Amino acid sequence: MSKKAKEAEPPKKELKKGEKVEEAPKEAPKEAPAEEAKPEKPQKAPKPEKKKKKEKRIHTLYKLENDKVQRLRPVCERCGPGYFMADHGNRYTCGHCGFTRYKPAEK
Ligand SMILES: [Zn+2]
Repeated sequence: MSKKAKEAEPPKKELKKGEKVEEAPKEAPKEAPAEEAKPEKPQKAPKPEKKKKKEKRIHTLYKLENDKVQRLRPVCERCGPGYFMADHGNRYTCGHCGFTRYKPAEK
């Protein structure tokens, strides 16, 4: 439209070959925010299967024979009746006081 406006424009610089042009330093592409990939419910890693504990119940310590209760574990000598000793293979141990009695060596 008006010639004046055109004249006011600064003359374009001609880039010569070999001339260094300042470029903005290339930035590594920013990773997309994690929010975009977020599902509605946070996905939890599958729970590792619980190892079933070999829990010995109290009933494993008793045995019924001829209508009489037979105790399969010896009773702690220190703690007295009511405190069974754990069977550790070659020894019995009281979990209450820590008393340990070794089994007679079997052949
Ligand atoms: Zn004991």
